[in-house]
Amino acid sequence: MTSHTAPRLGFRPGLEQIAAYRAGKPAPVGPDGLSAKLSSNENPYPPLAEVVEHLGRIVGDSVSRYPSIAAPELTAALAERFAVEPEHIVLGAGSVEVAAQLIHAMTAPGDEVMFAWRSFEAYPILTRVAGAVPVEVPLDAGARHDLPAMAAAITDRTRLIFVCNPNNPTGTVVSADELDAFLEAVPEDVLVVIDEAYVHFDVAPDSPNGVEVFRRRPNVAVLHTFSKAYGLAGLRVGYAIAPTEVAEALRKVAIPFAVTRLAQEAAVCSLRAEAQLQERIDVMIAERARLAAGLVAAGHAVTPSQANFVWLPAGAASATVAERLSARGISARCFPGEGVRISIGTPAENDAVVEALS
Ligand SMILES: *Cc1c(COP(=O)(O)O)cnc(C)c1O
Repeated sequence: MTSHTAPRLGFRPGLEQIAAYRAGKPAPVGPDGLSAKLSSNENPYPPLAEVVEHLGRIVGDSVSRYPSIAAPELTAALAERFAVEPEHIVLGAGSVEVAAQLIHAMTAPGDEVMFAWRSFEAYPILTRVAGAVPVEVPLDAGARHDLPAMAAAITDRTRLIFVCNPNNPTGTVVSADELDAFLEAVPEDVLVVIDEAYVHFDVAPDSPNGVEVFRRRPNVAVLHTFSKAYGLAGLRVGYAIAPTEVAEALRKVAIPFAVTRLAQEAAVCSLRAEAQLQERIDVMIAERARLAAGLVAAGHAVTPSQANFVWLPAGAASATVAERLSARGISARCFPGEGVRISIGTPAENDAVVEALS
């Protein structure tokens, strides 16, 4: 073993203020053997058999070679799926990488990146890593984006605004009308990114369709991922649909070869199997209603969710809620003093959540 003294290297000033991303906890094992990881909003189902079979066929000759950076098949499939030009599509190793590309492409040190808070925990981290300044606008009393307050917080340093819809971790949505009124108030030189990681689970009739908003407005981009509804979190593939000039800038700051061929082809297979995937999504949406009703019947406040998780605004009791789940073999995401986010699992796992909290 070498003994290591503290290095005398010059780390970047400000780095000490950046917290490492906190990943969802692995699941503990409960007294009856149940072990349910409901802390990262992953899909409780395995990938489709045809996706697994296809990956098995190509793994032998795709791992020793670099993937295609242009990913022509996946790009074409997405362009067709959303009726946009291929030039609007930019891939990344998960949409979190694309979010980082957006911040790196749009901000200089000291520029502001705005988002609601609480929202996706990667936003402040990625913003600080890029040398930009996070501007966190509190959610309203219903744990929804306070879009008027966000509009009022725009300054001449604001370059980028994330609207997470549905919002992680609260599951709330903005309406199409609210979003339109907000976009009217945003200067045209500020890019608004609608992060639709959970859009497949959103069945609210008045929700905006991000891609449709992108088509109508020059300063809007949309983020999508294959991690949540399509169950490919471990393969890392997400994308932006963005104005041409933004897309070109994103490709410049992207990490070369970040999206593997396995990820590209699994995504193409998943787009072909959307009907089958939709059946699972429908089950998860029904389970969300059942889980929420069970928790409400057990006396918990549950924020109405359009995502694949529910939010319990448990306040000071949040840690206790998380401990009760943990004792049953379930990991959830606890934000001490605020609330607990519980991902939708299999029906048996959701039953166990209700039992543990009853
Ligand atoms: C999970 C999540 C993502 C991205 O996930 P990737 O696996 O990187 O595609 C992006 N935005 C939000 C709000 C998320 O919750």
